Formats: sequence, structure tokens, C-alpha cells
Amino acid sequence: MRVLITAGPTREHLDDVRFLSNPSTGAMGFACARAAAKAGLRVTLVTGPVGLADPPGVEVVRVTSALEMRAAAMKAYAGAGAVIATAAVSDYRPARRAKGKIKKGPARISLPMVRTPDILEEMGRRKNGRILIGFALETADEVANALGKLRRKRLDHVVLDSPAAFGADRIDATVIHADGSRESFRGIAKKDLAKLLVGLLE
Ligand code: C5P
Repeated sequence: MRVLITAGPTREHLDDVRFLSNPSTGAMGFACARAAAKAGLRVTLVTGPVGLADPPGVEVVRVTSALEMRAAAMKAYAGAGAVIATAAVSDYRPARRAKGKIKKGPARISLPMVRTPDILEEMGRRKNGRILIGFALETADEVANALGKLRRKRLDHVVLDSPAAFGADRIDATVIHADGSRESFRGIAKKDLAKLLVGLLE
């Protein structure tokens, strides 16, 4: 089986030299890719801009924006039997990307933003027997919101974590399964969580 993994942040440019992004380092997704390859699965890793080297034996596709991630991920989705979506995809992007550099001017300006496509939700709509694992980074009503995502995106499992996970080696996480059962972990290494998630694919 081939597993598709998304990782890292996206960058949404407002001009050629500035962008909106987030602190995702890609560590969770790269750990999943390593664990999946070690387990003998074929792996496609679609990642936003991160400072991590290609894991051995993994097909890596590097992208920048949410729209590019969607195009690369949906292409790989066709040949995948399972997905682990760890990417911290920007929910909005500037409506237009100015050419060059926006010049300093008035004291206040506004930036029209438009929604980006929800890649994992799109995958859920075309699920066709695939196993889908998503992440939910929540800051309020954590379990209820994570469960809402699990249902809306038609996931088999969702990993609830918090902004403290950005850049950390060990995280607090709750794995919530589609049957409503859950397992909580305090200070689990991303490597071990990755192994556990890959175990859910077998
Ligand atoms: O709804 P929310 O963004 O919190 O859902 C998070 C999950 O959905 C993660 O697994 C993330 O990778 C995925 N996602 C996505 N495309 C988006 C937003 C989130 O695939 N535009």
C-alpha cells in the first residue's frame, strides 16, 4: 500500500517577498514518513517549506502554498490507500499576490483574504475505502472540535494536539477513533506517535 503524508506549514504570499505562515517545522509528518517507510509501506510525502532532509526511501514533493499542496496531494491521493494529514495548512490566503514588493505608504492598509481549499475534507468526500488520519490543533472545546473534524472530514482517526506541539520533540496528544474511543498521551515522542499512527494503517 502507498500512504500519502502531508507535512509542514504553507506560505501564502501577499507580494513576492512577504508571506503569511505558521511555526510548523514538519517534524510530525517527517516522523510519520520514516515510520511508514520502516514498516515497509510506500510513502509519498507532500511537504511545505521546512528545513528537513528527505527521509530515506520516501518520495518527497516540496510545495509552498496551500493551492500547490492541494494540487500535489490530490495527484498522489489517486494512488494512495491511506493518508496521514499533519500539514498546518493556512485557512486563508491573500486574495491577490502583488508583483514585486508592496511599497510602504499609508499608516493603515487592509489585506483582503480568501479561503483556501480544505484538502483533507476534499479527500474525505472522495474517500472510497481509504484510511484517513487527520490532526486537530485546538485551543478551546478541544475534544468537541476534534470530533467535529473527524465527522466532517470522514476521518478514521484524529489526533488532538495543541500549539505547544510546534517545534517540540514530545507532545501531549489524544488519538480519537471514529468509534468514539480515545487514548491520551502526555509527553509522547513524535517518533513514537508516528509509529502508533502507522500501526493504525495495518
Ligand atoms: O480544520 P482544521 O484545519 O483544524 O483540520 C486540520 C486537519 O485538516 C489536519 O489534518 C490538516 O492537515 C488538514 N487540513 C487540510 N487542508 C486545509 C486545512 C486543514 O488538509 N486547508
